[in-house]
Amino acid sequence: MRIIHGREFYPALMLSYRHAYHAGNHADVLKHIVLKLCLEHMNSKDKPYTIVDTHAGAGLYSLDAEQAMRTGEFSSGIGRLWEAKDLPPTVADYMKLIRELNSDGTGKLRRYPGSPWIANRLARDIDRLRLYELHSTDFALLRRQYKNEGKRVTVEQCDGLDGLKASVPPASRRGLVLIDPSYEIKSDYLKVATAIKDAIKRFATGTYLVWHPLLPLIEANKLPEKLKNSGATSWLHATLSVRAPSTKGHGMHGSGMFVINPPWRLEAALNESLPLLTTLLGVDEHAKWTVEHFEQSKKATD
Ligand code: SAM
Repeated sequence: MRIIHGREFYPALMLSYRHAYHAGNHADVLKHIVLKLCLEHMNSKDKPYTIVDTHAGAGLYSLDAEQAMRTGEFSSGIGRLWEAKDLPPTVADYMKLIRELNSDGTGKLRRYPGSPWIANRLARDIDRLRLYELHSTDFALLRRQYKNEGKRVTVEQCDGLDGLKASVPPASRRGLVLIDPSYEIKSDYLKVATAIKDAIKRFATGTYLVWHPLLPLIEANKLPEKLKNSGATSWLHATLSVRAPSTKGHGMHGSGMFVINPPWRLEAALNESLPLLTTLLGVDEHAKWTVEHFEQSKKATD
């Protein structure tokens, strides 16, 4: 990182991860179903809220573009749901959004939404979005999509965890934060845990969604435990593994969503959808799902 005119400047070369190669994979499916359910809960009250997306990506992805075609990850993720029938209501509702984005009359799955698209689609006119993205190419793509939104949507090129610090507590006093890093550097796991601890201290009632990969790496395995000990009094942890962990010590076999202050119906919705999602997205007999929920009892806090 260099400092230019007092602002931090991050050369694009430092970041090699591009979400365009992975958009619509099994991890996006889990993440975006959870995000949608949490946003719908935010909409159940009239008061405005702020969404903070610390690692926003490019916002929208073409599945027929070179990057997506090269890995083909979407075909074993959203591609399998696109063909599926008789989905549980939660998954069917999420697919309505995906179909809405692909309503060009061809009947083909050609586009996949990023978290900013889903957030903007579900947020109301009174709500605010604060999007952070560090990669210069994805930042430019994202900024172009929201250039006419005025103050309702802000897009900044800076470290998303610094952005989080600047954004909480939001003026609205209601907020949802999505933390979805690429975890390119091992120290990112600790940074996320520290950022959550700090954010909860300043904004205890916010809903925080942290995505994390399941892979054979000590730092990755420790993150859920650190989040459980972050000071949150209510949390939910959902995981979806699509295959057995790699014995070669690398490669993601699944992912998890850790939600602090989860909406009350999230647990039931995931218990209802994850069995079928695991069957549809699983690639071997080790595919499995888990949902864990913790609520500090009133008695313990008295
Ligand atoms: N949240 C997006 C979605 O669901 O559509 C996907 C985000 S992708 C997994 C992670 C993104 O974080 C990448 O676009 C990457 O360029 C960006 N990134 C990496 N380090 C960052 C940082 N320190 N601050 C903000 N963005 C960062």
